[in-house]
Amino acid sequence: QAPLLQVNDMHVEFRTRDGVARAVNGVNLILRPGETLAVLGESGCGKSVTAQAIMGILDSPPAHVTKGEVLYRGVDLLRLPEDERRSIRANRIAMIFQDALSALNPVYSVGFQIGELFRTHRGASRQEAKRRAVELLDQVRIPAAKSRVDDYPHQFSGGMRQRVMIAMALALDPDVLIADEPTTALDVTVQAQIMGLLAELQRERTMGLMLITHDMGVVADVADTIAVMYAGRVVEYAPVYDIYARPAHPYTKALLESIPRLDFKGRGLNVIGGLPPALTDIPRGCPFHPRCAYARDVCRQDPPPPAYQIASQRIASCHFIREVLGV
Ligand code: SF4
Ligand code: MG
Repeated sequence: QAPLLQVNDMHVEFRTRDGVARAVNGVNLILRPGETLAVLGESGCGKSVTAQAIMGILDSPPAHVTKGEVLYRGVDLLRLPEDERRSIRANRIAMIFQDALSALNPVYSVGFQIGELFRTHRGASRQEAKRRAVELLDQVRIPAAKSRVDDYPHQFSGGMRQRVMIAMALALDPDVLIADEPTTALDVTVQAQIMGLLAELQRERTMGLMLITHDMGVVADVADTIAVMYAGRVVEYAPVYDIYARPAHPYTKALLESIPRLDFKGRGLNVIGGLPPALTDIPRGCPFHPRCAYARDVCRQDPPPPAYQIASQRIASCHFIREVLGV
């Protein structure tokens, strides 16, 4: 199936007081219709910046794409005239964030805010807009949608607000939904409900869903494919099963070992030692070497091949993949 979204060799930089931060360094991603792609990594690995570059909302801090393409159905969004680009981003690619409260306007009812999208983009009447808002609140499983449509954001719980955000994102029936840490602010039970909802909506609508998260524990059940990012690079890209069953990159392996295990109380919580590098000062050689249990001299000198092919849909970037896989 032809990709909905394809990011090719993307590079993003921004200036800081400490010099140029290289936030994204040659990222390649593919999202197909009906696919859920999880982009996984610690804070500061470039995953949000990648999403913002796709959406064209790289503004704070002032950052720019220095190289690469963002193809939506084969058309490069970075080279489209501004009005066409804006129209695709408004209608075809939607995004939700961690913080629903700050994304919603506190002075308007949720029904008004959802309805506004239909009025602005579809020329709907006030009445029609409200009817569609109720329909959407119902689709995101907000109980008694009809009686909640005139409520204000603060009258909803965190989880229900995130549902409202999802309803707004889906209003114009996008092909692609990008969700940046959509459940991070929620407690564990609600997290699972929202993930389940996103997965259901994705299936019903055969959307492409790009799920950005630092939490490997929340994506196992919903992702088809996982891209693991480190220091602005994709270090492993593989079907979800392979990632969990047999990670090929030491960083993926360490992330897996850091998932808290409910079935072994107090065990299994191995936080990866050390911190991700400052993006103004990425180590030479393999950027992961200061934290890597497999590192040898070559890792401190030479960067590993960016995309060593392990199987047809599987790549990783490491000098010692065979050793990590145990083959
Ligand atoms: Fe670790 Fe070396 Fe592989 Fe980098 S290239 S992940 S330092 S073993
Ligand atoms: Mg982020």
